[in-house]
Amino acid sequence: MKSLIILSIAMLFTLTSVNAQHLKSAKGHENNPYYSNTDMKKLNVSDAEWKKILPPALYATAREQATEKPFTGQYWNANAKGTYYCAVCGNELFKSDAKFASTCGWPSFFEPLHKNSVIYHEDHSYGMDRTEVICARCGSHLGHIFDDGPAPTHKRYCMNSISLDFQPD
Ligand code: FE
Repeated sequence: MKSLIILSIAMLFTLTSVNAQHLKSAKGHENNPYYSNTDMKKLNVSDAEWKKILPPALYATAREQATEKPFTGQYWNANAKGTYYCAVCGNELFKSDAKFASTCGWPSFFEPLHKNSVIYHEDHSYGMDRTEVICARCGSHLGHIFDDGPAPTHKRYCMNSISLDFQPD
């Protein structure tokens, strides 16, 4: 009986702390149960479910590969210090230290924060040969990568602002 009570208290404590962690990282994402800045576990969520959760413009970009118009997004010209996360799932993607002033009209970075934060897919749509950049946690479209970035990588991760969430330091 005593061990049952201890087990119940331990379970209640675990549930409470998981919930608090979720609420802490889900600011602005209250309708998205998958959003977390700390849980790196790969998600397997259907497009039908994402469609119910995400704002239509984010769904169009993240799940249907739409590209926002250049010079219109929130971050193309931003230079505040902080971290950029996946707007769909909260995965940590880029540091502002790797962002550079690009004239293309989309937020541009020379490297992701972690090598395994993103994955790459060959994209032959619209008669072009490009490499698509995808969030490794939720599989959402983020943008494309090009070989015209600055040192040290000479890469340009050309991202859609709408696919990113910025948190200042
Ligand atoms: Fe994601």
